[in-house]
Amino acid sequence: MTAILTDIEGTTSSISFVKDVLFPYAASHLPGFVRQHARRDDVAELIEAIQVSESLTDIDAVVDQCMAWMEADNKQTQLKALQGLIWKTGYEQGDYEAHVYEDAYRYIRQWHQAGIPVYIYSSGSVYAQKLFFRYSCFGDMTDLFSGFFDTTTGPKLEADSYVTISAAIGKPPAGIVFLSDVLGELDAAHAAGMATVHVQREKGMSSGEIHRVAHSFAEIQPD
Ligand SMILES: [Mg+2]
Repeated sequence: MTAILTDIEGTTSSISFVKDVLFPYAASHLPGFVRQHARRDDVAELIEAIQVSESLTDIDAVVDQCMAWMEADNKQTQLKALQGLIWKTGYEQGDYEAHVYEDAYRYIRQWHQAGIPVYIYSSGSVYAQKLFFRYSCFGDMTDLFSGFFDTTTGPKLEADSYVTISAAIGKPPAGIVFLSDVLGELDAAHAAGMATVHVQREKGMSSGEIHRVAHSFAEIQPD
């Protein structure tokens, strides 16, 4: 094994932290955040981009549009960026810290120390991924990772994305082990030639035929 590539939600971390903490936090804070920081350069730029693309004239309409996108789980680019800024504020204020399973923390640190590079591939933006691990329940973990990939590299269900990532890492796919809780992602990584481990945090998850199964990172052998 020359490198590890891992998903976050359901793999290094509980699905419920993102679903029950982060997303509701962004939804409840977005209206106030957008109105309060509308003149801040980074926020103003995002508001303007949404106004242009959706033909909206005022801030209230932008807020309504963002709320509708969140309701529909639409991962619109500027919305994702706004959510990232809101989450940053929440992390900095100590409103929450990112959940990481203890075994994931322990083994990621161990692999890193053993010289096995660990990379992240998640549907959350790289910006949000770095915040997540900077403010984890085990402290700042960002130094344990050699790189971060999001869906700007490609969709997680397409084999090409994994080919692109292995090229970016600079190692052949066969030397990379991809960890995820989602079979479709594992199938895509397998099709690209990566080794795959189906991380099953919940009891009773169905296993495919082709992926190794681990219930904790302790069961993942680095060879
Ligand atoms: Mg996942």
